[in-house]
Amino acid sequence: MTTPSTAAPPDKVESFIGGAWVGETRGHCLEVLNPATAQPVALLQEADPAEVHRAVINARQAFDAGPWPRMDINDRKDILYRIRDRLRAHAGELADLEVLNAGIPHHHVQGQVLRMTRNCEFFAEVASTLRGESYTQSAGFLTWVTREPRGVAALISPWNAPLALSSMRVASCIAFGNTCVLKPSEYTPLAVARMVELMHECGLPPGVVNLVNGRGSITGEALVSEPGIDMVAFTGGTDTGRRVMASAAARLKPSLLELGGKSANIIHEDADLERALDGALLGIFSNNGQQCLAGSRILVQRRIAEDFISRFAERTRRIRVGDPMSPDTEVGPLCFQSHLERVLGYVDLARQEGCELLAGGARDWSAGAGFYMQPTALLAPSNSLRACQEEIFGPVAILQVYDSLQEAIALANDSRFGLVCYLWSASLDAAMQVSRSVRAGTIWINTPMMRELRAPFGGYKDSGIGRDGPQSSAEFFTELKTTTVPLDPPPLRPLGRH
Ligand code: NAD
Repeated sequence: MTTPSTAAPPDKVESFIGGAWVGETRGHCLEVLNPATAQPVALLQEADPAEVHRAVINARQAFDAGPWPRMDINDRKDILYRIRDRLRAHAGELADLEVLNAGIPHHHVQGQVLRMTRNCEFFAEVASTLRGESYTQSAGFLTWVTREPRGVAALISPWNAPLALSSMRVASCIAFGNTCVLKPSEYTPLAVARMVELMHECGLPPGVVNLVNGRGSITGEALVSEPGIDMVAFTGGTDTGRRVMASAAARLKPSLLELGGKSANIIHEDADLERALDGALLGIFSNNGQQCLAGSRILVQRRIAEDFISRFAERTRRIRVGDPMSPDTEVGPLCFQSHLERVLGYVDLARQEGCELLAGGARDWSAGAGFYMQPTALLAPSNSLRACQEEIFGPVAILQVYDSLQEAIALANDSRFGLVCYLWSASLDAAMQVSRSVRAGTIWINTPMMRELRAPFGGYKDSGIGRDGPQSSAEFFTELKTTTVPLDPPPLRPLGRH
C-alpha cells in the first residue's frame, strides 16, 4: 500500500502477503468510493486466485514452520498488547479512514475503533488463560487433554463495521496461535488495510496475518475453496454464508458464520416510554441502519401505540442526515449506490404490500451527491409481508402493533432469523418471559446494543452457526488433543509369541 500521509487514504490498496505489500499484480482494479460524495478516493487491486493461493501458502508456512504457534504465550500476548497500543495510537487516523470509506458517523466510528483495540487485549487474555484437562480415574493411566491451534483460517468480513468486525475475526483467530488470510469487503478496504499494516509494526511474524482484497465472487470464492485452509470464519449475509459453508463442508472444514438479522424490538405498555423511544431510534438508525443487530421490527403494545408511533415518526423526521465527518450528523450515507437502491426498493415494496409510510421514504439529496437516504418509518399491517421478513439493512424501521406479550413473542419468533431481541418493559415477568421464549442469540432488556465481549454473540436459525466469545472462539479456533500414558508398564497381550 502506498501511503502518502497518515491522514490521507492510500492511492492504491493491494494484498499484504508474508509481511509486505505485494505491489502491482495482474488482477482487476476496482474504484474505492467515499459514500458521502460518491467520488473515488482510492483504487483496489483485486487479488486473483493465484494471489490468494500465495497468501494461503504464506499463512501455511507461518503455521507449519513459523514461530507464532510455538511461541511462549507471554511473548504472543506481548505482541498482541503492542498491537493494541499501536492501533490506539493511530485511532484518529483509522477512524478518519473508516468514516471516509464506510460513511459511518465519526462519533460512532470512535466506539468501533475502541472495540478494535479491546478485541486485541481481550483475546490475548483469553488465550493466556486457556486450560487443559487431565484424568486419572482409569487405574494406572494418566490422560490429559490439550488445546492446540487449528491451523490456517480464511477470515471474511463485511462492509458495515469493517474495523470492529475484521479485528474481532483476526484477534480471536491469531491469539490462539493460528495464522490467517483476511478478506475484507471490496467496498471498505481502506481502514482494514491500514490496521493490518500497523499490526506488522509490532513484531507480528510475517505470514501470520495476510490480507487479500477483492470481490466475493473472485477473491472470496478463491479463498474459501483453497485446499490449504483449515477453517473459515465468516461475517456477512445469510445467502453468502450458505455458499461459504457449502464450500467449506465439501472439504470437511469447519465454519463459523455470523449472518443477518431481522430483530424485534418489543415496546411493552409498562415501559419507560422516553427511554424506549430513544432506545428504539438508536436500535434501528445507529450505524446508518446498517447493522446485523438492528431492532428493525418495532413491536408496540396497542394501548401505547398511537402516542409512541406518532412520536417515533416525528423524531425520525428530525434526525440530522449529513456528512459523517460532522459531529452534528446522526445518520450518514449508505455505503454504496446499489445498496441505497436496494433499500429504497424495499420501501417501495413495503408500500405496495400495504405498509403506511410514516416518515422519510426517499433519497435525501439535501445532504449532497452521496448515497444519502431519509430515515424512514413504516407501519405494517402484518408480519408476513416481505418487508417484515427480509433483512433491509438500512435506516428503515417497520412498526407493528400487538395486544398481548404472548403475541409479541410469537411475532418476534415468526422470522427465519434469530440474532437478537430487545425488550423495553418495567416488568420482571415480561423480561423473564422474553428471555425464556424468544429464539435469539442475545436478548437486550431496557438497553440498546451493549456488546459484552465476555459473553457469546451469534445467532439462532438463519442468523448463523457458532458464537464469538471466549469459550466459543477457543473451541472454534483450536483442536482438542488427548494424550494417554501408563503410570506403570501395563500388561501387554503377547500376540504371535506362541
Ligand atoms: P455479503 O455477504 O455480501 O459479504 C460479506 C463478505 O463476503 C464480503 O467480504 C464479500 O466480498 C464476501 N463474499 C461475497 N460473496 C462471497 C462468496 N461467494 N464467497 C466468499 N466470500 C464472499 O455481506 P455484506 O453485504 O458485506 O454485509 C451485510 C450482511 O452482513 C448483512 O446481512 C448483515 O446482517 C451481516 N452481518 C452480520 C453480523 C453478525 O455478527 N451476525 C455482523 C455484521 C454484518
